[in-house]
Amino acid sequence: MTVRDICSIGHPALRVEAACVPPSEIASDRVQGIIDDLIDTMRHANGAGLAANQIGETARIVVIEVNDNPRYPYKPPIPLTVAVNPELEVLDDETVVINEGCLSVPLRGDVVRSVNLRVRYFDRDGNEHRVKARGLAAGTWQHECDHLDGVLITDRADPSTLCTWEEFERHHRDAFIERISRFVERVGS
Ligand code: ZN
Repeated sequence: MTVRDICSIGHPALRVEAACVPPSEIASDRVQGIIDDLIDTMRHANGAGLAANQIGETARIVVIEVNDNPRYPYKPPIPLTVAVNPELEVLDDETVVINEGCLSVPLRGDVVRSVNLRVRYFDRDGNEHRVKARGLAAGTWQHECDHLDGVLITDRADPSTLCTWEEFERHHRDAFIERISRFVERVGS
């Protein structure tokens, strides 16, 4: 297990449509090694998720984990999830504006995301999962799966909302957390 370098915006791997992992190869040393490195690298960088493209591996693999994350203190916890060949199905027209950051982009920005998803993926043991995701967790899935299609938040964000982390903390954080907290309470009720 290795903490890998994370590609920054401009690295060609971030613009590649990643290839599906044949189910027969999920158990291979190559794929298991990519998964181990993704987990180590995500945790080392305090990320909420990481896609294989971000460490220069163009295979459809993402990892997601949220627990007391200092980068995203408002995010609800998500246990470690390894998703191979994830597929998202948007369940309805409800959307929410989420201010997102990315380990590959030095800016944050407001992105419109679907609120209700069904997610289908294989775990690292090759077992198939079908789960529903909602709200901020659904936003995280959409962000990570965008990476597998070569899409970054700078493609989706309202350009007028792009912001450094420092200026976000100074000027926008409180309003965003208040807005998204109300949203989380509302969707949770
Ligand atoms: Zn990202």
